[in-house]
Amino acid sequence: MMTLRVLLLIVLSASVSYGWHAGVARADITPKEPVPLAGYGGKTRMSERVEHPIWLKALALRDAAGSISVLVTADLVGLSDKMVERIAGMALKTHGVPRERLILNTSHNHSCPVTEDVLWLYYEFTAEESQTRDRYTAMVYERYDEVIGAAIAALQPAELAFEQGLAGVAVNRRRSRGPESRALGGQVDQDVPVITVKANGALKAVVFGYSCHTTALGGLSINGDYAGFAQLELEKSLPGTVALFVQNCGGDANPLPRIRGKDAEATHLASMYGQVLAEAVRQVIAAPMKPLMGPLRASMGETRLFLQPGIPLEELKARLPNLSGMPKREFELFIRQYESLGEPPDHVRYPVQVWQFGEGLKMVALTGETVVDYSLKFKASYGWNDTWVFGYNNDLLSYVPSLRVLKEGGYEGTTGMFEYGHRAPYTETVEEQITKLVQQLVSGAK
Ligand SMILES: [Zn+2]
Repeated sequence: MMTLRVLLLIVLSASVSYGWHAGVARADITPKEPVPLAGYGGKTRMSERVEHPIWLKALALRDAAGSISVLVTADLVGLSDKMVERIAGMALKTHGVPRERLILNTSHNHSCPVTEDVLWLYYEFTAEESQTRDRYTAMVYERYDEVIGAAIAALQPAELAFEQGLAGVAVNRRRSRGPESRALGGQVDQDVPVITVKANGALKAVVFGYSCHTTALGGLSINGDYAGFAQLELEKSLPGTVALFVQNCGGDANPLPRIRGKDAEATHLASMYGQVLAEAVRQVIAAPMKPLMGPLRASMGETRLFLQPGIPLEELKARLPNLSGMPKREFELFIRQYESLGEPPDHVRYPVQVWQFGEGLKMVALTGETVVDYSLKFKASYGWNDTWVFGYNNDLLSYVPSLRVLKEGGYEGTTGMFEYGHRAPYTETVEEQITKLVQQLVSGAK
């Protein structure tokens, strides 16, 4: 009779020989000159120094069936529709990567340069500042092309594994803001999902995620915030490995405590948060991990998220003369939309991607600044141990509130909607629409 030990060995050897090929690459996107910094609205902030380089990183995977899929991570605040379209178009045309097999995640880094039209209502640039932004954006497009091509060119036989750790950096920011906010929910997701990629027994790449805004820093230096420090620490302590950070569902989480106005102290704190996260990843890697099987089934779908009625045209016009800065630009946009479209759009397009590794890991890639409820909800539905839910893919659409957050009100999903160019908060069908689409994609119905 076969012993359990022998059976286990057979199962393990079968799984590691699945037939994956993997390739990893990184491209430096550190600006070469002072640039306008992204992420925070208000007065234009020009960068004054580089704390550490910022990167695009790509992991290409080819399953035994020959399908190539690429995950690209970025130390950027987000992408716009225009950027996603251009990068995805290039990936398809130049590198043959179909849209559903290209995931574009950003860390939501608030210490990176402004690119293209991302969060354009935040900024009012001089002609010279606009040119600086455009030069930087052109470089970023080139690097996306390079990094995707380089990861595919580096494909080699590999073994993949998955497991999760925990790190306590994230605090729900709706609970942390002032005495009234303490009555609001304090949910967080402190899971640290990790995929390892090994070739010839050597660790080549580690992909790890966390649900928390990259806002430990707010000074005038270029850096990757706590996520940048975590990646640096992992690459230093695991020589020969590329560390890729994925922003999960950190829409309503901040790294706390934070320090403002004292750059050296704030940088030290951000570095400590990076160390904590890196240590969580190292502990996952040091323990047994589940081998990932193929094939990698990729699907993508789109739903519509509807918006509540906007401010009437007459009211916009009446209030406009009293406004300045970002609110003025928002009102001007809505007035233009009334004049050119009849009214500001009543919905947005919401794409979702799902990658399923054999019968194991499901990666649910959502769009925009998704709040933590989505991560907790889909992990509860599809399995806490093998579901990875992450927002901040595709364009930085808006905050994406759950029904709970929408009903509570507040910044994420209510007062924060105008600055993304949307006429009003979402209607109460928002969570239902997203849940339905995810369900269809996970079940293979779409
Ligand atoms: Zn944000």
